[in-house]
Amino acid sequence: RSTDSSILEIRELEKHFGGITAVDGASFAVERGTITGLIGPNGAGKSTTFNCITGVHTPDAGSVVFDGDEITGREPHQIANRGLVRTFQIAREFPEMTVLENMMLAPKAQLGESLWRSVMPIARREVVEQEAVTRDRAWEMLEFFEIDHLAHEYAGNLSGGQRKLLDLARALLTEPEMLLLDEPMAGVNPSLEKKLLEHVHELQEQGYTFLLVEHDMDVIMNHCEHVIVMHQGSVLAEGTAEDIKADEAVVEAYLGG
Ligand code: ADP
Ligand code: MG
Repeated sequence: RSTDSSILEIRELEKHFGGITAVDGASFAVERGTITGLIGPNGAGKSTTFNCITGVHTPDAGSVVFDGDEITGREPHQIANRGLVRTFQIAREFPEMTVLENMMLAPKAQLGESLWRSVMPIARREVVEQEAVTRDRAWEMLEFFEIDHLAHEYAGNLSGGQRKLLDLARALLTEPEMLLLDEPMAGVNPSLEKKLLEHVHELQEQGYTFLLVEHDMDVIMNHCEHVIVMHQGSVLAEGTAEDIKADEAVVEAYLGG
């Protein structure tokens, strides 16, 4: 499945760790403007695929094309700068800093220290102006996710769900086109989960594309227009949620472990 409407396409991706094959020739495409689900049993290679797409790992073979550009093997900050960002299975905020401070660091963390320095103007006045812009956008994002009342709280004191919202807010500060979310609902209570999903749909309406790794099948079935199933490092099946539910090979992969 590869068309002009694909925003992301991975072809024959491979990643090995010593003797372990984590990703074994995975190929798939994500259509622009969709919420696409990536599912599969534990160890299927979903997180490693995310890592290969976002430059955390360099794939051993295959290619990653984002928005018409081959980005295979590029640095994470280059990929983020190009408009493709991710959140992590375990949120990576700084616990000893406040929520607002974490937000202020987001562009720096995603873009990388050296690039940040190069885009940061030398004149102090301009630095202050740049910081003010970041601060305004940070507040906007915190308000959007309704965690602005926590701005001065230490990130370490947030609940699991609030941390996920902060992680997503930080990812959005870099103004991406596409977000990869690795288990965004894990550890999130049901009311916050509902809110998070509403935000994802709202962002989809604004034109963002999402690729979502999620264990909760209800979330996948109710919120993803397209579902890709990985098993043992490659794509076992893909289609609508209905197609996937009816697919015997998929059922077998889950029950067989
Ligand atoms: P999933 O996210 O689908 O649960 P992963 O991509 O995390 O799967 O893992 C796929 C396989 O690769 C597993 O067998 C896992 O143990 C292995 N693996 C993942 N990351 C590493 C690593 N950094 N070093 C060694 N093995 C790894
Ligand atoms: Mg994983």
